[in-house]
Amino acid sequence: MKAREYQIIGPVLRDGAIVYEELNSAQELPVGWTDEQDGGKYRLKKRTDQAYFGYVVGPHSWKRFLHPPAVRLWQASRNGKGFQIQEEKPAKRKTAFIGVRACELHAIAIQDKVFLGNGVVDSHYQARRDGIFVLAVNCGQAGNTCFCTSMKTGPKTESGFDLALTEVIEKQDHFFVVQIGTDLGREVLSGLPQEPASPAQIGKAETIHASTAKQMGRSLDTTGIKELLYANSEHPRWEEVAKRCLTCANCTMVCPTCFCSTVEDVTDLTGEHVERWRKWDSCFTTDFSYIHGGSVRATAKSRYRQWMTHKLATWIDQFGSSGCVGCGRCITWCPVGIDITEEVRAIRGQGPPADAGRSGKERYDTNT
Ligand code: SF4
Ligand code: SF4
Repeated sequence: MKAREYQIIGPVLRDGAIVYEELNSAQELPVGWTDEQDGGKYRLKKRTDQAYFGYVVGPHSWKRFLHPPAVRLWQASRNGKGFQIQEEKPAKRKTAFIGVRACELHAIAIQDKVFLGNGVVDSHYQARRDGIFVLAVNCGQAGNTCFCTSMKTGPKTESGFDLALTEVIEKQDHFFVVQIGTDLGREVLSGLPQEPASPAQIGKAETIHASTAKQMGRSLDTTGIKELLYANSEHPRWEEVAKRCLTCANCTMVCPTCFCSTVEDVTDLTGEHVERWRKWDSCFTTDFSYIHGGSVRATAKSRYRQWMTHKLATWIDQFGSSGCVGCGRCITWCPVGIDITEEVRAIRGQGPPADAGRSGKERYDTNT
């Protein structure tokens, strides 16, 4: 892809986590590493093999490249008695995303509806979105906070990719089964060493997809969820979760679909130059709902309720789908381990699942 002048973004090890950054070679991938996750917990661990993609999703998502944390919208400078405004041209670039998971493809499709749907187009998002090449990866294992099967967003990629890989590792063999999604994907693949997959190799890839689906560490019952949340805006559970919630906004920062932003104007000390920036914001900050003299959502209870009800209920009315893809990031990266699946169960009046506290891998091993 470098020869085609793509900037390549993919998973790398940094600061004790697997994050998405610019890649210069395949050697920079976290080969032989995996992650262990749970509510409020994330740690890296060495694998016993040399898997290229033997981990699940980390604190970064692709939204930081399509809807960056900070974008300058325009700048203005004094020009004699007046001033001159310079609009920020959307940054057109070709970017290859390496290692995109099924839930993340669904998150990109959801953000497409937000930024490109209903006839309202965000030019900055569109400029970045138009130039992406997607090399997807089917998860070979599920994380302990994953629940994509509940949200029908994974673990197998179905669409939205140029090429999709399934990594197969056996004692003597280590290979990838590749699915072609677009003509561009076919063209890129034609320039690489390859051979037609045998029925046995395809069968091995399918076995991996099926076993990953059985390893989900969490589940979320979506039956009638919109009506459930609309009917329970005064449920006592909101007070309970508010006692733990720090309103730190971590859950919204790591969420691949959360899209809220604010606008800040900054000027230099001379007053000669001013810039307007769009920056990620969160429904967990008091400023976000500040309207002439006060914040509409002044309490942690009202902010958590807003976030979860938007994700799982009002999003459906607004964009025609859930705002949650079951990636589990908000559970892993919540400093106090608040778990959206547990909160839904509590609103339904249900306790924790019978196998709570066991990892997805343990559940799978018992079930097979
Ligand atoms: S739910 Fe967790 S991550 Fe989200 S704002 Fe509250 S404490 Fe922070
Ligand atoms: S709400 Fe949580 S689990 Fe759902 S998409 Fe956002 S970060 Fe992932």
